[in-house]
Amino acid sequence: MNAVRRFHLRSPWSSRFPYSQLRAARRLKSDFAFVFDIDGVLIRGKKPIAEARSALESLNKNKIPYILMTNGGGVLEREKANEVTRITNCSKINPLQVVQSHTPMKALTRDKKFQRVLVVGGDGDNSRQVAYEYGFKDVVMPIDIVKANKSVSPHCMYTTHDFELYAKPVDLDKPIDAILVFNDPRDMSSDIQIVQDLLNSQNGVCGTKRSIKSVADPTEPSIPILFSNNDYVYANDFPLPRFGQGAFRIITETLYNHTNKLEPSQNLQSLIMGKPFKLQYDFAHHVLIDWNEKISSGDTESQQILPYLGEVPEQTPFKKIYMVGDNPESDIKGAHDHGWESVLLRTGVYKDEDWDDIIARPSVGVFDNVEDAVKHVLRANGVSA
Ligand SMILES: [Mg+2]
Repeated sequence: MNAVRRFHLRSPWSSRFPYSQLRAARRLKSDFAFVFDIDGVLIRGKKPIAEARSALESLNKNKIPYILMTNGGGVLEREKANEVTRITNCSKINPLQVVQSHTPMKALTRDKKFQRVLVVGGDGDNSRQVAYEYGFKDVVMPIDIVKANKSVSPHCMYTTHDFELYAKPVDLDKPIDAILVFNDPRDMSSDIQIVQDLLNSQNGVCGTKRSIKSVADPTEPSIPILFSNNDYVYANDFPLPRFGQGAFRIITETLYNHTNKLEPSQNLQSLIMGKPFKLQYDFAHHVLIDWNEKISSGDTESQQILPYLGEVPEQTPFKKIYMVGDNPESDIKGAHDHGWESVLLRTGVYKDEDWDDIIARPSVGVFDNVEDAVKHVLRANGVSA
């Protein structure tokens, strides 16, 4: 209260604005913010988590900035925002508040080196549409290459229908600048073959092979490869976990290392995104700063300001960023490693009996649901929920 009084007395606005308006003005510049995981926090599959709506509405009411950060992907941020809005029945979530595993790849479009990219993974050609939306100029998918020359992957599982619906004509002689793994591979054998071909090609030209002896550092592939997340397995209806993109990364590295006879201490160079990696948390921090500016100014339609990939925010308006998640290995570990506060919930993968074995412990505590967690943090920061 003293701090507010001092502000009130000193402020040049004090004669023009009553106290309640001043307090509202102060809140426009919240010095703390939230980042929510989606699955197991706000929704579970296609079903809502009952407390999500009131938790988000209390933040909207108090103009506390928040964004959502998920290791999922394969769709546009707009679609993910609409899905979460529909399922939780909360006020409209803006696509600029959504960071999916591949969202930081947007930042690559600031670098003119990456004009023509191979995008791997996802249903149909959804990932191609996402990459175009991010601003990549020419997006090739494995299905295009197989359609252009079936000998590339003679045992592929693509149907005539798939080729008609999803493939686009490509010039195989034109170099590809980078490989972006957007999501779990669908036709894994084609993806493995095409990715290896390009990693070992001459400057990204399909059907060529560089001489590894002429390469200064054999761990450096012919063109860069980026994985949007490192999740080794994921859960579905089957009783055992299924392999995800992290397993594809291991296959990719193993084959590359074997092909190029690398020493056991050497490994294919790649970039891995998603939680719990620093790159993802730094990108999300930029998004949060940008979103905070937008809600402060009331202009949520203006263009998002993007960092370069891997850029750390030089200045932040936030004293604290609270990561709210259900997964100690991704949500909590990432927050712990990168200086954020962390809140663990019981509505997803974490169970109390796991406490002794979890890789990272939450700095704020464990809560039954997202509403309890938000109320606690708001109270701790002097905001009534
Ligand atoms: Mg989760």
